[in-house]
Amino acid sequence: MEERGSRDRGGGAPATANGTERRQIFVELGEQNFDAIRLSAYRTACKLRYVQKKCNLHLVDVYHVIEAVRDVGLNAVELAAGISNTRLENLVSLLFNQLAKRLPTTHTVDPRHSTALLVDFLLAAVDSEAGGRLTVLSVKAMLAMLCGGKLLDKLRYVFSLVSDSNGVLTPSKFESFLREALKLPTAVHEGPSFGYTHSAARSCFPQHKRVTLNMFLDIVADPPPQCLLWVPLMHRLADVEHVYHPVTCSFCRSHGITGFRYRCLRCRGYQLCQDCFWQGNASGSHSNQHQMKEHTSWKSSASKLGRALSRTLGCVSSREPPRPTYPEEPERTLNMANIVHTNTHTNTHTYSYSHTHTDTHTHTHTHTRPTSASPPIPIGHRACAEESVICLLSLKTVQRSSKWSLFM
Ligand SMILES: [Zn+2]
Ligand SMILES: [Zn+2]
Repeated sequence: MEERGSRDRGGGAPATANGTERRQIFVELGEQNFDAIRLSAYRTACKLRYVQKKCNLHLVDVYHVIEAVRDVGLNAVELAAGISNTRLENLVSLLFNQLAKRLPTTHTVDPRHSTALLVDFLLAAVDSEAGGRLTVLSVKAMLAMLCGGKLLDKLRYVFSLVSDSNGVLTPSKFESFLREALKLPTAVHEGPSFGYTHSAARSCFPQHKRVTLNMFLDIVADPPPQCLLWVPLMHRLADVEHVYHPVTCSFCRSHGITGFRYRCLRCRGYQLCQDCFWQGNASGSHSNQHQMKEHTSWKSSASKLGRALSRTLGCVSSREPPRPTYPEEPERTLNMANIVHTNTHTNTHTYSYSHTHTDTHTHTHTHTRPTSASPPIPIGHRACAEESVICLLSLKTVQRSSKWSLFM
């Protein structure tokens, strides 16, 4: 079902209406100094998070993508089929027009501008591979990886693309998906670290083993295979974006740290802001070879003492609840319980890293799983709060639609 005249970009001619907008996102990306980040997973996640926010795609979740894909009639088209740039523009434009209608009046987006930026970026991503062609799978894979919302929902959608009718992963389909998804890091010049290779795809899953949904989620989400490290990191970046730590960075001396905070496990009281840590900055007797602990929240001594006391008295659990287990049968209808309850907000997330190896930093972590209950959103997670509000608004649309078919 190849569409005729699908690629009209011969000789580098602009694909979208406005050639200036076409390149704008890459120019602005280049001005952000992300290349100073020494850890490739963080560098890639920061670049793609930037692109995501610039296009307003952080306000769109995977269910909005599924809905728009269905509305433009791409849900029934086979994944390998090529599509035209015009059809891509129609899909993306629908996505942002629906977003504009959904947003509260305090938020405004320009659907035309967002469409131009995103279409431009996606086409550049497709072109990042020699002989790359725009297919239904490229569009679904890239939009699913780049949109906002919950990581688990996105991964469940991905599984629906790469599994057979018995709910078992098909390795060749997963390889095709990965080839498309890894065009995103390649588009932001991170191909050397996260570009597609056949061996990268093969190393993701144990060979000759039946991989079902829950096993897939375990393998891809915690901790992810090397080639997908940037995916959960994008979500963690979003979670900490507005987290404030009232401490002074030991290197740049700026008071008040926003985002991740890193504490040296050897030098007492030595703490770095994320920019200083990511750039490998170190001062005094501290070295960037020391192991650092990554913090995603700030707790005062009084609140830590209170929590320790409550734990001693058995008032709070010291363990994070496990990720919900999903039915292994292939999903065909929307199960609202699975959507509403999934929660990836975390304020107790700690990772340990050192710069000992360029990118494969030591990874002793206590990983927070999404909870099946819905705890209150922690203070300081304003970004999460905003995105949750938008998700709730969108669910109203979902509930109204009885013919809503999931993951097609
Ligand atoms: Zn600093
Ligand atoms: Zn140190």
